[in-house]
Amino acid sequence: MEVKQILIRATARVVAELGLDQGANLFLERFIYRDCQPAISRGGPGRFSRHRRFQVLMFHKISSDAHPFFAPLDPLQFERQLLFLKRCFQVMDLEELVEHCRRNDLPERAVAITLDDGYRDNYTQAFPLLRKHALPATLFVTTGSVGNSRVLWHDRVFDAFRYTKAQHCQFKRMGNTHFLLDSVAAKRECVDATISFAKSLPGPARLAFVEEIEDALQPDLVDGRTPMLSWTEIKEMRAGGIRIGSHTRTHPILSRIDAVQLRDENVSRDLPIPMGVWVITV
Ligand SMILES: [Zn+2]
Repeated sequence: MEVKQILIRATARVVAELGLDQGANLFLERFIYRDCQPAISRGGPGRFSRHRRFQVLMFHKISSDAHPFFAPLDPLQFERQLLFLKRCFQVMDLEELVEHCRRNDLPERAVAITLDDGYRDNYTQAFPLLRKHALPATLFVTTGSVGNSRVLWHDRVFDAFRYTKAQHCQFKRMGNTHFLLDSVAAKRECVDATISFAKSLPGPARLAFVEEIEDALQPDLVDGRTPMLSWTEIKEMRAGGIRIGSHTRTHPILSRIDAVQLRDENVSRDLPIPMGVWVITV
C-alpha cells in the first residue's frame, strides 16, 4: 500500500474518532460560512444546529478491474470504507434520511450510500458487502441500459480511448485541435477535454460527437465493455433491502436537453419494478 494512502487513512480515522471533523464544521459554519446558514439551515442565522448536516456518498463501479480513465473502486477498499462508515457515521437509508431532514431531527454524522448508473459489479461486488455489513443503500439505475448491451455515452468515450491503437487524434467538432495519444497521461488529457466538451453539447449533438470519437479512434473493444445490471439482479437486490431509484433512461446531461426529451428520460412507468422519480446528480 502506498504511504500516501496509509497517511490518508490514518488521518481520517483520527479525525473521525476524535470528532475533529465535527469541530471543524462547527467552526466553518459559525464563523466562515455564516451567510450561508439560512440556506443550509432553515432555523435561520440565529439558530445553529449541526444536526441538520448530512452527506450522500456516490459510488459507481465497484471492481478490481482497473480502468485508466474511469477507475472503479476496488471491493477491498469499498469494504474498508463501509467499515469506517459503520464505525464513525450513522449510515441511513436515503429516504429515511430525507424524512429526518424534513422533521429536522437528523442524527449526527448522517450518511446515505448511493450507487449510480447500474453497473453489474454493483450486484456481484457491492451487494454482498452491503448485506454482510447490514448497511442500507440506494441503487440509481439507468433504465435504458438494463439487461442489454447499450453502453452509457461516457463509457463509450472512456472505452474509445482505452482500446484505441491511434497515437494521435483530432475531432471536427472540437475545431480539429490535434491531440497526442502516445501515453496514458496524454490520453487522459484528451479524455478530460472531450468529456468536458461533450457535456457542453445538447443531447443529439453530444451523441453525434461520441460517434465521431469512436469513428476516429476505431477502438478494438472485443470484451472490453463494463457489463450492466439485469432486471433479475436488480429485483434480487431490491428483495435484499437495496432501494432502487431511476437514474434517467439514457444518462444525458439534463440541463442540455429540451422539455420533450426530459419527459422521455423520466421513465418510471412500464418498468418491471416500481421506481421512485429522483433528481439525477451526475
Ligand atoms: Zn450517473
